Amino acid sequence: MVRERREKPEYHTPIYEMAVRQFDIVSDRLDLDPNVAERLRSPKCAFIVNIPIKMDNGRLSVFQGYRVQHNIALGPAKGGTRYHQDINLGEITALAMWMSWKCALVGLPLGGAKGGIRCNPREMSRGELQRLTRRYTTEIFPLIGPERDIPGPDVGTDEQTMAWIMDTYSMQIGYSVPGIATGKPVNIGGSLGRSEATGRGVVYVTSEVARILNINLDGAEVAVQGFGNVGYVAAKILHEMGCRVIAVSNSLGGVFNKKGLDINKLHEFSKKNHILSESKYGDRITNLELLELECDILIPAALSAQINGDNATKIKCRILAEGANGPTTPEADQILTDRGIFIIPDILANSGGVIISYFEWVQDLQNFFWKEKEINEKLKDILINAFNNMMIMTKKEKVENRTAALMIGIKKIVDAMLIRGLYP
Ligand code: NAD
Repeated sequence: MVRERREKPEYHTPIYEMAVRQFDIVSDRLDLDPNVAERLRSPKCAFIVNIPIKMDNGRLSVFQGYRVQHNIALGPAKGGTRYHQDINLGEITALAMWMSWKCALVGLPLGGAKGGIRCNPREMSRGELQRLTRRYTTEIFPLIGPERDIPGPDVGTDEQTMAWIMDTYSMQIGYSVPGIATGKPVNIGGSLGRSEATGRGVVYVTSEVARILNINLDGAEVAVQGFGNVGYVAAKILHEMGCRVIAVSNSLGGVFNKKGLDINKLHEFSKKNHILSESKYGDRITNLELLELECDILIPAALSAQINGDNATKIKCRILAEGANGPTTPEADQILTDRGIFIIPDILANSGGVIISYFEWVQDLQNFFWKEKEINEKLKDILINAFNNMMIMTKKEKVENRTAALMIGIKKIVDAMLIRGLYP
């Protein structure tokens, strides 16, 4: 279908175009009402804030921050907060759009949002990061709230960041509002299981796929790009389950050992030294080489568009479990699918994070906290159910996994928008 394009808004960057291309494929497939489709191609709102803070050297620096809400037809907006030197409004908008589809796919009563600050957190002190986070929270204050838009962690942010957001918001309101952010430390309203949720979710779905494909996890070879919250936890749990994690990497490159890496020891090492290959556990490997390793399971758990038209023909895994958001471009998608690689799309594979964030939010609103066993069981139940729904859709519509998952999520949002109607 030929679509009329008006002048491009600020968020039209390559990553955003990629998210829209994915959407357009599904929109055509679902034969969506063109008016609703038009609304879904743009975010509900995209906020840019400039954040001045005093640096430790006494000088002032101004950082650009963002909060984008893509769609709130199903409930309050929900999405992570990314601190990274390369982010821009377009990337945050794409991530917000993916959050909408993800929440809908797994059946959460939440909309999609994302936020972030263009900064390099690795080069900033704890004091600078605290001032940055508190001022950012104040600048986006009109947009967020436990009934409105609930931030969580993402690349470059952690429990501490969420605690500062919660405290800053609470100070403005005058009392403690734990439901304003998720991914908080447990002692201030965080949920048990949240810190490991995304990586654990990746493992639950990957195990189910391995079972279907008759891949024995005991001794299965795994490569993980990104050794942060998602990548480390997925690697750790798979290692505990008997997989051989043959390579992991971070922004400075990775380490490879065909016999399998000791993930716990490597994690201890990585707390002190960011150059993984300087550990004695394996050989140096680049991020690109890691993606092209022959293995059973490849988990990209870092940034977007890592698997693209340039390297898709060289990917040699059997299962691609997308821990990261948007790690595979549409060109690569097609190539990988044609080559018979089983893709677990990001909006399913990494949805464990937002599922337990949802549990955290519900617990905070009720002031009643659940046991970790109960939380992980509920997580598994939701994920396996969503996975089964995706598989049913792939067969029924004869489409690949990503399109099926997107079709389910997008259809739920479209139905809600149609029944709610257009205001005013
Ligand atoms: P993190 O900051 O904890 O870890 C990111 C890791 O990626 C780090 O090891 C970092 O060194 C590495 N990295 C950064 N740039 C890289 C590069 N160019 N090449 C290779 N590695 C690089 O972040 P995270 O929370 O683990 O998030 C990772 C991915 O998972 C992101 O795409 C994020 O959007 C997605 N995700 C996270 C969550 C969550 O709950 N944290 C939930 C869903 C999706």
